[in-house]
Amino acid sequence: MTEIPKNHPRYESLMAREQIIAGVEKGMTSRQGLIAQGRGEAFDYLIGEKTIDSADYAEAVAVCLLLLAESPVISVNGNAAALSPADLVMLSQLTGAKLEVNLFHRTEERIQKIIDELKENGADVVLGENAEPLLPLDHERAKVERVGIYDADVIFVPLEDGDRCKVLADMKKLVIAVDLNPLSRTAQTAHVSIIDNLKRALPNMIDMIPDFKNMEEEDLWEIVQAYDNNVVLMDAIETMKENLTAKQNEVLGINPDENDNSGKKEKKMLQEANERRFGKMQRDPEIAKKVMMRGGDLMME
Ligand code: ATP
Ligand code: MG
Repeated sequence: MTEIPKNHPRYESLMAREQIIAGVEKGMTSRQGLIAQGRGEAFDYLIGEKTIDSADYAEAVAVCLLLLAESPVISVNGNAAALSPADLVMLSQLTGAKLEVNLFHRTEERIQKIIDELKENGADVVLGENAEPLLPLDHERAKVERVGIYDADVIFVPLEDGDRCKVLADMKKLVIAVDLNPLSRTAQTAHVSIIDNLKRALPNMIDMIPDFKNMEEEDLWEIVQAYDNNVVLMDAIETMKENLTAKQNEVLGINPDENDNSGKKEKKMLQEANERRFGKMQRDPEIAKKVMMRGGDLMME
């Protein structure tokens, strides 16, 4: 691994690259995984390389769903295994979700290497070896285990490809995706789309579990039912637009606060749009309060 100084402004992102490269060298991650990581990085740049409030909210809802599920499964691919093996195992242990390796560029050797990596990080059982082509797909992602993904009611799919995500949703499974690209088919198809970096999303979700674990099932359902994935997608796209506009203004030397009347008009329009997009959630103050406690400030804005 290249030594990256901790004070480097792009430390996190450079470290993630090193992890993905190490994954390729270990034979867990495909070379195509390097490109997928690059696409993720580009969207991370646009979102500001942080967990935005709406992603935090989606992560809270994802935790509730995993805790409510009867047979939840965490689907692991080569990139996820390279980036966050210990957190994937911890999420599985704290929610009772099974781990299953599922690959687009599947080879039995890669499956085995990822299973070994997860076991080295504390997993007892990892599914994926005994997969059969049970999903209606023309590629290797069709291969799943009957006792795992095939029978699951809730599936957590970090860095998923869009067509399997759609097939899983068509099979009436609830799909939670982690994907920095809010425009991807995956993000557009999943029931809960976490627009965040996997490396930030997992620790955040793990931190939330103790709070939600003590809640009544009924209350967890209330949170899940109040959730609207379109709001989360829209908020991520809006954040990217705002970040681009801020950068554009910076380049042009424009201070939008100095823009008297026209600025005011735009602010008012934005406020009205915000009221429209968050109105639905605001209607239920009890749920809003609960999610607020998890830092979902978004809902009260
Ligand atoms: P789709 O088929 O859903 O339209 P895609 O073809 O864009 O998706 P892939 O290249 O198959 O997607 O998978 C990579 C996806 O994962 C990309 O959308 C990318 O933004 C996202 N991604 C990559 N690395 C990360 C990461 N560390 N955290 C979150 N998302 C990531
Ligand atoms: Mg794809």
